Amino acid sequence: MKPRVLVTRHVYPAAIGILQEHFAVDYQDGHGVMDAATLARRLQHAQGVVCQLTDPLGAEVIGSAPALRVIATIAVGHDNIDVPAATARRIVVTNTPGVLTEATADLTWALLLATARRLPAAERFLRAGEWRRWDVDLLCGADVQGRTLGVVGFGRIGQAVARRALGFGMRVLYADPEPAPEALAQELRAQHVPLDLLLQQSDFVSLHVPLRESTRHLIGVAQLCRMKRTAFLINTSRGPVVDEPALVAALEEGLLAGAGLDVFEHEPRVHPGLLELPNVVLLPHVGSAVTSVRSLMCALAARDCVAVLRGERPQHPVNPEVLG
Ligand code: NAD
Repeated sequence: MKPRVLVTRHVYPAAIGILQEHFAVDYQDGHGVMDAATLARRLQHAQGVVCQLTDPLGAEVIGSAPALRVIATIAVGHDNIDVPAATARRIVVTNTPGVLTEATADLTWALLLATARRLPAAERFLRAGEWRRWDVDLLCGADVQGRTLGVVGFGRIGQAVARRALGFGMRVLYADPEPAPEALAQELRAQHVPLDLLLQQSDFVSLHVPLRESTRHLIGVAQLCRMKRTAFLINTSRGPVVDEPALVAALEEGLLAGAGLDVFEHEPRVHPGLLELPNVVLLPHVGSAVTSVRSLMCALAARDCVAVLRGERPQHPVNPEVLG
């Protein structure tokens, strides 16, 4: 009998083709999100699952899937999966890093520029028929050229964001427990500094850390207070990296100039305070939303699912210790 693989939500067709060559595929071809109980039920006889960041794969769900050998997520972040629980049961977890790095760095910059130059407000103004004439002070925003960019989390995406800053003549500071190789830091003209100094000196603070217990609320009241009143916070990492109520309070009190957010603490719910504020730009988690990139991510996850179930080494194991 062919191994059984659950695909929890709609994916690009290439992935289904790859999986169907080898497995009996239980495909939930829709945009609905399964809750934990449904996931547990559908996983009872599955050897593999191709999932997305919306799927709650906690210890209980993992524990109720006796035959499960691989969890392949179509994302680089895997904070929705209890990886230690999977590792304890020798289930391989794979993700899709790399293919989305440039797209996410592009989106970060689009968001940074849109926030600094107030693009959504300007467009709303025009569409509302309020544009009467050119005015010297109409919808003026903040300068980017020559300013200081603080990159928090200097991995694949953080570095790609810093590379783009070279074109804007920016000074780049970065905070990361792992300093980058000297040659790379020189090439990107990026200086390794403690987070507190980065927050004090940056005009734009851009977050690129994974969500873990150590990065949950990495940016809270104390960190927001350290930022310049003229600075902007950009978050395209994961919502819970920022204490959202603290951010709303800081923005209301004018402790910083604005924020550009692609991710939220309780997606798809957005803090009502954020929706009220004119100086924030809000996007619905579209960091890697480029058709070709998303299709590659789906195919990559499917191929890694195939690799594990055929006893081969997957390209992107999150818990390689399970492979021995
Ligand atoms: P990566 O692993 O290459 O880089 C993460 C970096 O963060 C590493 O260098 C790590 O050392 C650093 N880091 C860890 N803890 C830190 C801390 N406390 N302070 C400072 N730095 C810390 O990952 P990546 O491919 O660059 O992706 C980063 C994250 O971006 C992902 O985990 C994911 O959650 C998020 N992401 C979001 C979108 C989106 O659609 N908005 C798209 C892709 C990725």
